Amino acid sequence: IADNPGEEEFHATVKEVLTSIAPVVEKHPEYQEQAILERIVEPERVIMFRVPWVDDQGKVQVNKGYRVQFNSAIGPYKGGLRLHPSVNLSIIKFLGFEQIFKNSLTGLPIGGGKGGSNFDPKGKSDNEIMRFCQSFMTELSRHIGQDTDVPAGDIGVGGREIGYLFGQYKRIRNAYEAGVLTGKGLGYWGSLARKEATGYGLLYFVRHMLADANESLAGKTVVISGSGNVATYAIEKAQEFGAKVVACSDSNGYIYDKDGIDLDVVKEIKEVKRARISEYIKARPNAEYHEGCKGIWTIKCDVALPCATQGEIDLESAKVLVENGVFAVGEGANMPSTLDAIDYFLEKDVLFAPAKAANAGGVAVSALEMSQNSMRYSWTFEEVDNKLKDIMKNIYENSTKAAEEYGFKGNLVVGSNIAGFKKVADAMIAHGVV
Ligand code: NDP
Repeated sequence: IADNPGEEEFHATVKEVLTSIAPVVEKHPEYQEQAILERIVEPERVIMFRVPWVDDQGKVQVNKGYRVQFNSAIGPYKGGLRLHPSVNLSIIKFLGFEQIFKNSLTGLPIGGGKGGSNFDPKGKSDNEIMRFCQSFMTELSRHIGQDTDVPAGDIGVGGREIGYLFGQYKRIRNAYEAGVLTGKGLGYWGSLARKEATGYGLLYFVRHMLADANESLAGKTVVISGSGNVATYAIEKAQEFGAKVVACSDSNGYIYDKDGIDLDVVKEIKEVKRARISEYIKARPNAEYHEGCKGIWTIKCDVALPCATQGEIDLESAKVLVENGVFAVGEGANMPSTLDAIDYFLEKDVLFAPAKAANAGGVAVSALEMSQNSMRYSWTFEEVDNKLKDIMKNIYENSTKAAEEYGFKGNLVVGSNIAGFKKVADAMIAHGVV
């Protein structure tokens, strides 16, 4: 903590991971001898840079740019770029650290990294977004490459932004190095099912977790926070599995539709108009809109799927959810539950699917996009979706098995950390002290 002052989010995630893997380290003295823990919490490289750009009024703006290349033991650094005013080094380090284990869990050859900027895309014109992305990539391009570091989307970075970033990279490098970014458009080497992957993957994972408890999503009431990429496709798959999704949100507030969310209306507002979720009630007058995000967790539900951002379920919200009868929580966002909220869910025997395992579908399909780019070939939607289903099943089974092996039966937080950690630690030992 003294070495990384003020990095609260990073401290929290390190604490969660190191606590979980303590039994593994005890059992394997070579991890201690080789200082694996001391090495793994230190990023291999941190890049911080200035991002100057000119707004539509001709005024020069400056933002901070980050890329944390955390661990490349099992493959090139891989992880998204986040554009949000809350972005700082602590957040990028927490996301990058999580990414190491998540990527390992997918079973695919990708290391961990993350990046972004405190740029706020909200209210910016297309041209401003483009100029920002071009400036950001002008610096980032020196540090990435299809065998070095492969960024993707995250909060505030969707298909439009990846397009601008790729265009600038291609221009600077004078090469069509498609595998340098994932989440690309289908017309230029993107993968089918990438857009759906995180939300769908979350539901595949949750379905396995419920099935093991003789439960299913059919007929269940579900609350999903957010209305971005992850939330949208989580809603879609939850509805396909027969659940009734009654709420979703954005950073201003949430909507409650007791008859079940009309996803076409949400997609129109968020993907086409790029407007606020409050507009939902114009199309669905029987629904309610409430200002503020936290209230979404006071809605009675069987299953809660936080898909917006970190720290959105604190202990207080966790208590209300349990009081209202929630029996399963699946994390679509990264670290949406605080550590005390997670402890509370586990203490109350709520089935809990941690982000690292449950939202790994996005990066898994990103890795499949890299495979397709290397082959200069693309798979059909069904082929990618079937691979995603298999990957989520393996992640669920490996996490369950690891938890059981170390005496934490049913605890997927511990199980996923252990399952993700061992492969990376063993590769680090194989590579010597580097
Ligand atoms: P989007 O930008 O598409 O959507 C984010 C959603 O969360 C929006 O509805 C946004 O509202 C809301 N939100 C963002 N910040 C806050 C905040 N501080 N408070 C409340 N609401 C907020 O991002 P994604 O859907 O891609 O990402 C959502 C989460 O999932 C993130 O934690 C991300 O790291 C994680 N994730 C994403 C993956 C992916 O493939 N995209 C893969 C794995 C994890 P508003 O529009 O008002 O900003």
